[in-house]
Amino acid sequence: MKSRIASIGVALAILADLGVNAVFAQQPPVKRNFEVEIQAAIESAKTAAGFEFLGTLVRTCLLPQSGGEDTRDNVPSYVTNPASAPARDTWYAEPAKVFDNLYFVGGKLHSSWALTTKEGIILIDTIYPYNSEELIIGGMRKLGLDPKNIKYVLISHAHTDHIGGAEMLQVRYGARVVMGGPDWELVEKYPNRYTTMAPKRDIVATDGMKITLGDTAITIWLTPGHTPGTLSYTFTVLDRGRVVNVAYSGGTAFNFVNNTPDPGIKNFQTYIDSQKHIAAKANFTGATVLLSNHSEFDNAFNKNRMLAGRGNGPHPYELGADWVQRYFQVMQGCARAAQLRLEQRLVQTAMP
Ligand SMILES: [Zn+2]
Repeated sequence: MKSRIASIGVALAILADLGVNAVFAQQPPVKRNFEVEIQAAIESAKTAAGFEFLGTLVRTCLLPQSGGEDTRDNVPSYVTNPASAPARDTWYAEPAKVFDNLYFVGGKLHSSWALTTKEGIILIDTIYPYNSEELIIGGMRKLGLDPKNIKYVLISHAHTDHIGGAEMLQVRYGARVVMGGPDWELVEKYPNRYTTMAPKRDIVATDGMKITLGDTAITIWLTPGHTPGTLSYTFTVLDRGRVVNVAYSGGTAFNFVNNTPDPGIKNFQTYIDSQKHIAAKANFTGATVLLSNHSEFDNAFNKNRMLAGRGNGPHPYELGADWVQRYFQVMQGCARAAQLRLEQRLVQTAMP
């Protein structure tokens, strides 16, 4: 009897040593049902998206994602041969005054915003080198704004559809350029890729940094994920004199190494944490408007056309604080689903 008690004691000690509770050790190990977890994450994103954020849902939950980091350093063909740039009718959009102090000077697919202040203009994103001249410079002139007054250029991230006009604006008007540190490094690392688009290193954004001009400030939030230096913003605009809070999302698709559990799981976590970060700031400021840098995500192109028929109705961009939060829930749900797929693969490959 004594020896039996002793052997049970030894077995318990071994189980305890393994970190296994003796009671549960008799049951089969809990098996995670990844398919159920993945479906739940996708459903949460779908519910959050409603009919408002279908573009973001499709891009992050449904379309195939590029597998990794772009390390090519080629001069884009539209730089070496401008005639090869996409046809004007594929990108041209009319500029629009969207709020009392915020003007859309982007294209059909990509956005550029001019925030006017008493001391000059803060420009958010600069589209491609082949259309920044007509859309930004031409668009501002059409709206009665003088591009010489551009004092700051904020680049959401260093992809060629957003940084395209930054060098031109820095050289021509002496505008200060603000970008995330890791994205300044990208520009310096790939000189060919950024030919004609590379501003000289200027202001390196930090989390919570305020870019203040006259009576207006934009607060920058670091939201690494889409690129390591992606920036998002919170700021206020005026709608017929009324203060309206805006949250701006600076990067959406999963353009990072995401096709292997290591470092994909970690990269998705960085992306998810960033969406939580900007969502919390949007919540804190009471943001009721969600802006992005692609019309695919914030419907800017269609909303600009709706503005013309607004009359005394609500502002087409003003969705309410709940919808702004739902936007970031779409991104988080889709990123979580993709992260779970990698976790599932990790568990499967670890199985004997
Ligand atoms: Zn991008």
